[in-house]
Amino acid sequence: PRASTNSVTAPKSLPTVAKVEKPIEKRDPSPVKVVRPITPIQDVPKAYPQQDVPSTNQHFAFAEMIKSFRTNIDYRPLTLFDNVTENRISVCVRKRPMNKKESAKGEVDVVTIPNGDIIVLHQPQVRVDMTKFLENQKFRFDYSFDETSNNETVYRFTAQPLVKTIFEQGTATCFAYGQTGSGKTHTMGGDFSGKKQNASLGIYALTARDVFEMVKSPAYRKKDLQVYCAFFEIYGSKCFDLLNDKNSLRVLEDQQQKVQVVGLKEELATCEQDVLDLITKGSLVRTAGTTSANANSSRSHAVFQIILRKEKKLWGKFSLIDLAGNERGQDTRDSDRETRQEGAAINTSLLALKECIRGMARNSTHIPFRQSKLTMVLRDSFMGEKSRTVMISMISPGISSSENTLNTLRYADRVKEMGTDGNGDA
Ligand code: ADP
Ligand code: MG
Repeated sequence: PRASTNSVTAPKSLPTVAKVEKPIEKRDPSPVKVVRPITPIQDVPKAYPQQDVPSTNQHFAFAEMIKSFRTNIDYRPLTLFDNVTENRISVCVRKRPMNKKESAKGEVDVVTIPNGDIIVLHQPQVRVDMTKFLENQKFRFDYSFDETSNNETVYRFTAQPLVKTIFEQGTATCFAYGQTGSGKTHTMGGDFSGKKQNASLGIYALTARDVFEMVKSPAYRKKDLQVYCAFFEIYGSKCFDLLNDKNSLRVLEDQQQKVQVVGLKEELATCEQDVLDLITKGSLVRTAGTTSANANSSRSHAVFQIILRKEKKLWGKFSLIDLAGNERGQDTRDSDRETRQEGAAINTSLLALKECIRGMARNSTHIPFRQSKLTMVLRDSFMGEKSRTVMISMISPGISSSENTLNTLRYADRVKEMGTDGNGDA
């Protein structure tokens, strides 16, 4: 059903594999290969979409200031027409739309994304003389997705450019970072709201779709690569296999510093549907036993891996990680000991992750991957010339999230700082 716009047609007499591969590389300088037209190009609004805030709202004065800020900006959201640039490390932000509950509570939207790389957080402030003003915190990232971007657009600028990396025997990694409720699982796993899950629209599935397309392409068909999937969860310092009854897994390092997740189940997948079934199965296992989908899953990192093998030997690996929520302040105050320890482990792992990506950007020989289970299992992601990483930082739009939003933006900014200082780009 999906039309291929520029799939490579097989030559009549099949030349050697090497000969077929060459033109593919040559075709690549155009930054991204659009595999097929995805969704109709969105209508680009001319003016920034404004929020209607009634004068009875306690934040009305601030809302008016934000409104006036938005009236005066040059609004150019990302579209599917925009070019994708190739970075070895890429850091992006995505703002989700306000939901019904937030609107009903009178939440004011304090995040403005004027164009494809800038994000502004409006922080309400009051002077000593009680006059109100906005403090606008501006950040620049590789891409900024506003609330009108769908998963396919986000995918196109983030994980899609990394698919070819694993075919070139490299390691690709995509992180979803942010506070609980900001849209990490929606972005990675697909739409899980309501009863019916639709895993097909998440980055896991979109990646799998393109991996199969590439496996079957003339350039790689002869390589006879097999696609396997693994799905596990890191909870504190423990790992559980989501494709194998939550079996506890050990993480071991051998003498060559190779890290192994012992006993991790890898399921062979022969088509996109196989992968969708595995995503659905693992996601259900992840949230089983809890009333709220977020209760447990916000406290664990979920790692979904698409692994290419040739005659059983590892060829390339794509890790897609739905990170634990980064909001941990409250854990220290009013929680039990176990919860506090969990919170501490999450903090440690997210800090270690930042340092590992920064080390990767510097091509450092000392990557501090042993500082957490998360960075340990992802060791290979931070090493080697053929490793590429993208982080998508998720942002909630509301004023009550602004503290967490600022933390998320600062974290992403620190990751980015080293990511594009000239030696980080491939
Ligand atoms: P997280 O995994 O970061 O805790 P979720 O992905 O579960 O957050 O998102 C919280 C809620 O917001 C869910 O109901 C989800 O469907 C919804 N949501 C998140 N991002 C979007 C989006 N971009 N568009 C529409 N709804 C979204
Ligand atoms: Mg989640």
